[in-house]
Amino acid sequence: MKKTTSTKNILRNIETLDEIAVPLLRWFHSEKRSLPWRESPTPYRVWVSEIMLQQTRVEAVKPYFERFVAALPDVRSLAQADEDMLMKLWEGLGYYSRARHLQDAARIVCSDHGGELPARFDDLLALPGIGRYTAGAIASIAFGEHRPAVDGNVLRVIMRLLASPADILKDSTKRAVEDALLVRLPKNVGDFNQALMELGALICLPRGAAHCSACPLQRFCLAKAASLQGDLPKKTPPKRRRTEKLTIFLLAKGGRIALEKRPAQGLLAGLWGFPSMQGHLEKQQAEQALQAIGLVPAKFHALPAAQHIFSHITWQMVAWRVELAETPTEIESASSKSAPASSESTETNAQPTPLLLREASAPYDMQTKTPALHWATTQEIIDTYSVPSAYRSYLPYIRSTAGESS
Ligand code: SF4
Repeated sequence: MKKTTSTKNILRNIETLDEIAVPLLRWFHSEKRSLPWRESPTPYRVWVSEIMLQQTRVEAVKPYFERFVAALPDVRSLAQADEDMLMKLWEGLGYYSRARHLQDAARIVCSDHGGELPARFDDLLALPGIGRYTAGAIASIAFGEHRPAVDGNVLRVIMRLLASPADILKDSTKRAVEDALLVRLPKNVGDFNQALMELGALICLPRGAAHCSACPLQRFCLAKAASLQGDLPKKTPPKRRRTEKLTIFLLAKGGRIALEKRPAQGLLAGLWGFPSMQGHLEKQQAEQALQAIGLVPAKFHALPAAQHIFSHITWQMVAWRVELAETPTEIESASSKSAPASSESTETNAQPTPLLLREASAPYDMQTKTPALHWATTQEIIDTYSVPSAYRSYLPYIRSTAGESS
């Protein structure tokens, strides 16, 4: 069969996997970590934990998971959750699109599946935010469907067991590993999948740190036999990150700080952030840029430079805390004194363009491009708004800062 041939071409030595299930499961049952989502692993809890665990460490996820399922204990409560509450629960976990997809999927589950997460891999795969790995994990752990769940940990273990030089960033390699495992899954598939992940997380560690002497699969491992653990798995070098220079503004007036909603598309889409402009602006440039949009800066205080690394972009930030001299009523959003509102409610008829979209030197049209600033107290920012971690370096400065220079 074509699929088998290609799997063999990519992986080789796959018969090595024929005997791993028994020792692996024995090890898992004695060594597995006690994790909150492993207690009463309902489909909902498995789903939420798997989404949170994407690109996030187990230890970091634990408190978020407990808080999330306490506040939103089932699919219906997630589907009905207020957007800002959802973002607040996710605040600090990063990759906020995961939370949005989670809620989009919950709404579909309510409308199309009677509020019960579907049990079949194919139905799970059709939901927003659920890829092959997550669908496999939920289907196998929560419903016992015979599906592999191949994440980075599993790929590393398998490539080492097989001493395979195939590139694990290629989809063809992942699919070959799925195919190789699919026909070797034992009856208790959920435990098997978790055991492989756990082995990768605890024993078969990346960057040459494998604890082979503690590994239940060491006698089968071709990488260990050939002393290749440190060289595997192979990955094509990731593309270089683009660097973006930004000037962040903590605009203060009357005990409130300006926030703006980021654009609905792109990086940190639809989230609250501090107003920003492209480029690193000196004090005079910053002053001119703010005056150009109708603000009257009175005092400037330079804040420390900071950096935030996303998967494909690095933000290099400089920042100013600026005390404004008078109330800029002409730019205040209609909802300035209220609790955070949906993105729709902060828009004006003039289709406001966030500051961050403009080049600092670009001409500014006050008639058509008034920025929609939203003024919040420091306590509201801390308690109510979900300010992404990219801006976290500047949160300590939302309270008044001594030593502003005028
Ligand atoms: Fe990984 Fe070492 Fe176990 Fe091989 S023997 S699977 S390299 S920990």
